[in-house]
This record gives sequence, C-alpha cells and structure tokens, in this order.
Amino acid sequence: VQNRDKPRQGISTPHRQTTEPLDLAAYARDRGIKHFMVSFTDLFGSQRAKLVPAEGIAEMQAGGAGFAGFATWLDLTPAHPDMLGIPDASSVIQLPWKKEVAWVASNCVMSGGIELEQAPRNVLTRLCREAADMGLTVKTGVEPEFFLMTPDGLAIGDPADTATKPCYDQQAMFRRLDVIAEISDYMLELGWEPYQSDHEDANGQWEMNWKYDNALATADKHSFFKFMTKAIAEKHGLRATFMPKPIMGLTGNGCHLHISVWNADGTNAFADDHDELGLSRQGYHFVGGIMKHASALALLSCPTVNSYKRINAPRTTSGATWAPNSVTWTGNNRTHMVRVPGPGRFEFRLPDGAANPYLVQAAIMAAGLSGLRSKADPGPRSDIDMYAEGHTITDAPKLPLNLLDAIRAFDEDEGLKTALGEEFATAYVKLKTREWNNYCAHLSQWERDNTLDI
Ligand code: ADP
Ligand code: MG
Ligand code: MG
Ligand code: MG
Ligand code: MG
Repeated sequence: VQNRDKPRQGISTPHRQTTEPLDLAAYARDRGIKHFMVSFTDLFGSQRAKLVPAEGIAEMQAGGAGFAGFATWLDLTPAHPDMLGIPDASSVIQLPWKKEVAWVASNCVMSGGIELEQAPRNVLTRLCREAADMGLTVKTGVEPEFFLMTPDGLAIGDPADTATKPCYDQQAMFRRLDVIAEISDYMLELGWEPYQSDHEDANGQWEMNWKYDNALATADKHSFFKFMTKAIAEKHGLRATFMPKPIMGLTGNGCHLHISVWNADGTNAFADDHDELGLSRQGYHFVGGIMKHASALALLSCPTVNSYKRINAPRTTSGATWAPNSVTWTGNNRTHMVRVPGPGRFEFRLPDGAANPYLVQAAIMAAGLSGLRSKADPGPRSDIDMYAEGHTITDAPKLPLNLLDAIRAFDEDEGLKTALGEEFATAYVKLKTREWNNYCAHLSQWERDNTLDI
C-alpha cells in the first residue's frame, strides 16, 4: 500500500481532468436519480457494488462506501480495516434502461486514506499516469464477444441457431434484434458511438463495437458494457456469458484490444505514412514490448482455467478458432497474436471474455511502455496462415498451455511485475495459484473415464 497525500479526494483520473469534480448529489437532482451503484472491480474481474440512495451520495462521494475487502477477490484478511470505494464522479452513468439508478466506478482506498495498490482500477490509473509523464496518452478499443444462452447456461438461447458457419447470420441476428438493438440504442444514448454489431463465429455468439477512447475510459465502458449486456439479456429471459469457451467445439469468446498511442499535441505517435503497414518506430517498439512479455501477459489476458480451451485449441466446427497459439505478429492477418489491421494502431488478439477490463489494459500498457523505453524490437513479421502452417515456425514461443503455465510465466517476469506494482503482482499470483489449486482438487468425469479401470 502506498501513502496518498489527499486521502479524501479520490484518485485523479488522467483521462478526464476537470478542476471541479462533478457533484453527484446535484447530478441526481437534475436527472431524477434515486439510487447510485457505487461499484468497484476486484482482482478476478467481479464487479461489486453498494446501493446508495441519492440522499446519502454526497457523504459517500467525500468519504467513500465501505466494504469488507476479504469478502471479495482481493488479497486482504478478515482482520483488515474497512476498504472504501471512493466514487470517481467522472465515470458516472445513468442506466439507460432504468433511469432512476446510476452506476459509478470507484477507487479503492483503505480507511485511513491509504490507496489499495492491488485494486485493478488503481493499477490502470497508475499506468495511465506513467504514460502521461512520458507525454503520451494510450487509446484503446475492445471487442467483447459473448453468447446468449438459456438461463441455466447450458444451451444456446436460440435453438434454430445451428449453422456450421453462423458468422453474420442475418436471420439469427433478426431473431435477436430485441436484445442487440436495445443495447446498441443505449450505447448511442450514452454517446459511445457504437458502429456495428454482428452474429459472431459461434452459434449463439455476438459482438458489439463502439469507438475507442482513453484506456481508463474504455475499461470503465467495458465494465459497464458487461453489466448492461447481462442485465438486458436477463430482462429478455436469456443469459449473456463472456466465458472464454462455454461450448467445446465452437469458437470461444475473445476480447481483442486495439491500441494506439497519442502525443500531447493530438497526433498519433503510432502513425507513419512511409511505413508499409503505416506503423511508426514507436509503434514497433510498443509491439516489441508486447512480444517480449507475451507469455506473462497471457495470465492477465486469459485469466481463467477455461481460458486455455480457447487458445491453443483444435479447429472449431466453423473452420477456425480465430484465437492465437504462438507469440507472433503480422499485418492484416487474423491468425496471429498481434495484427496490424491498418495504419497507426495494432490489435492484440490474445485477451478473452474473462479478462479483467482494468488489468488487461494495465498489462498491455506496462509491456508496451517498457518496449518504448527500451526500444524493443518485435522481431520478424510473419505472414503465414498460423492455423495451417504454424508448425513451420519453430522459433516463436508457444503461448501458455494452461493457467498454471501462465501463472508461472507471469511470476518469472520481474520486469512486468515491477511495472504493474509488486503489491498487485504478489496478490494476483497468490489468488490465482489458489484458484488453480482449487481446480486441481476437483475430481472430473474425464479422470474417472480414463483412470477407473487402470
Ligand atoms: P476487427 O476487425 O478486429 O473485428 P472491430 O471493428 O470489431 O475490428 O473493432 C475495432 C476496435 O478498434 C474498435 O473498438 C475501434 O474503435 C478500435 N479502434 C479503431 N481505431 C483505433 C485506434 N486508432 N486506436 C485504438 N483503437 C482503435
Ligand atoms: Mg453488515
Ligand atoms: Mg471485431
Ligand atoms: Mg470477433
Ligand atoms: Mg478483432
């Protein structure tokens, strides 16, 4: 934990600097808001909230909402003092489908005013500040994929959605218009500039896209998007899941990240018209940092046991997994881990739907900024079809094969751990190792099938 000078002011947000923070009580009066969900995201990506009546929000805005940190996925004990969620008023969103409620992201501080260094939004805020100190702003876009399932989570919600190549299926999309168009309309109302939604590559799978923004703003939107999508799906009698591989044999839920870095004068530091891919030296150095730390980044991009059924996976029924299996980069080719789809940005295809919206961005920034500082070389570009010819590349590291592999790769990467903060890294490795051990303590049917008669 680190000492903060101004414990009651919350943590400054690099992406929306206002001199006077928005007064949430006045905001509630203006908009007829009766309740605030004062929300924070724990290490495993769960969103936790206290429901605070508008009458009490002024006090909470100043002093924070109290939580017992141990009751969530944070490395705290039951003996720790209260943790406070100090609302970051600049993140507030009035729920478009329930106008008397507003959601606001908060920053975790221990009572007494000590910032909880391991809290994911604090980790990302620190990285954004570090970029700002280098005169840079990192802008990102996410591509969340999700399935609409039956409420028990066992089957695809639309029994007629059975095509072998269901991507962009017009008829299936029309059957789900009520859900998808409703969410799209809400994003329009919120000013997120959504520009497309589609039926994705698996039966029952969707993707919705909105415009990129500063990394912290995108992480807040990503969090809210998951909350909103689950809520709207539930309203329609369905269950939205971002689980990386909910159905074996079908394409899993990715969550690609697009990244560009901008100078203080508003120019794109990654753009170079003279380069064949339109990427500047700085862009290549940033990618170099991603390549160097890729195995460790897998833990924060693919953070669950289930994640490793999406990457390194056998061909799906649609023909391709669309997920990477090795540490390689390319131009406009969707079979590699890093893709440069157009000038001035790159796409990181490793993250899946379980990635913590804050930690995955923090991890990319930690790796990329270190690449900028060390002028890292991304190595040679590869243009092959990795699914058909991947075996011909022998010098590219394979991505971790399971969660334990990824935990170990992260734990061995001292540079990345330092860049993300030692307290965070220690807490994360501890809780993820415990999760892996819990998984190993589970006796599966596969073991019975293969070992009972041995
Ligand atoms: P894909 O071709 O990978 O499926 P999508 O259109 O689904 O691409 O998503 C692209 C994402 O990249 C969107 O969130 C978009 O706003 C974002 N994006 C576009 N340009 C940039 C940029 N310069 N910097 C960061 N993100 C960007
Ligand atoms: Mg109580
Ligand atoms: Mg997409
Ligand atoms: Mg997609
Ligand atoms: Mg993509």
